Amino acid sequence: MPEKTVRQIRYQGPIYRPPSEADSLLIQATVGCPHNKCTFCMVYKQGPPFKIRPVEQILEDLEVARNKYGESVKRLFLPAGNTIAMPTDKLAVVCRQAGKLFPKLERITVYGSCQYIHRKGPRELEALSQSGLSRIHVGLETGDDQILKLIRKGTTSAQQIEACRWVKAAGIQLSLYVLLGIGGRQRSRNHAIQTAKVLNAIDPDFIRLRTFVPKINTPLLEQVLDGSFQMLGPHQVLEETRAILEALDVNCRLTSDHYTNYIDLDGNLPEDLPLLLERLAAALRRPVGSFRPFFIGTQ
Ligand code: SF4
Repeated sequence: MPEKTVRQIRYQGPIYRPPSEADSLLIQATVGCPHNKCTFCMVYKQGPPFKIRPVEQILEDLEVARNKYGESVKRLFLPAGNTIAMPTDKLAVVCRQAGKLFPKLERITVYGSCQYIHRKGPRELEALSQSGLSRIHVGLETGDDQILKLIRKGTTSAQQIEACRWVKAAGIQLSLYVLLGIGGRQRSRNHAIQTAKVLNAIDPDFIRLRTFVPKINTPLLEQVLDGSFQMLGPHQVLEETRAILEALDVNCRLTSDHYTNYIDLDGNLPEDLPLLLERLAAALRRPVGSFRPFFIGTQ
């Protein structure tokens, strides 16, 4: 008798997802990142190159997941680095089919950079929203145009604001990632002021704080090692965080759900702002040796 082959969900490249998607089903719709130029990011620097998976294969993987998990799936995350870059009609087919297979599905999410969101425009974002796409995780990093250029993010603050407003207008939740310390010592103040300005103009659903850690195989690690980029120490990162928070005028959840951060901050703005500032003030009184040490990231 020939052996029966049990089909598995396929996956190519590093598994990378936001902490808030820890319980989500991961079905890859794209591989790699179409930009892959950010100087601080190591995720796809060693490949695999960007590609959009054939829709039939993605649907097959969804089917395999349906057979394995039944109707229990409530959250679906479609890796990898910029799945929003997938053609809208194809992404919409995947989202609609996921909604049919998993009737209890509460959320479908992807990563998306502002340059690719902007290419979609308001109409395509609305179409995606109607197909079931419900949240986009966006690496904003900074709202400072000079830093955006230096880190080769491939966007501008004006484009960030327009793209993110379209996402919100389409009814898709917006989760923005801010990278503390990415301006180095020289541009810390500008980073704080300009980032708060962009966040205020967008008023996202979530602001998620990350702290810059130099990663292997990245141009920015080389700049750290040759001294052309001067990193912030723990207290300077906390000062920068305070400057951002004090300048914010938003209605959203702010969280620092990540191992790179020096302290945990979590609250709803604006009501929890005094509490968050108190936590920062307390942390600023701690000796520098009480924070996590410097390290070079390997993942
Ligand atoms: S940070 Fe995002 S957009 Fe930039 S290279 Fe990495 S995966 Fe691509």
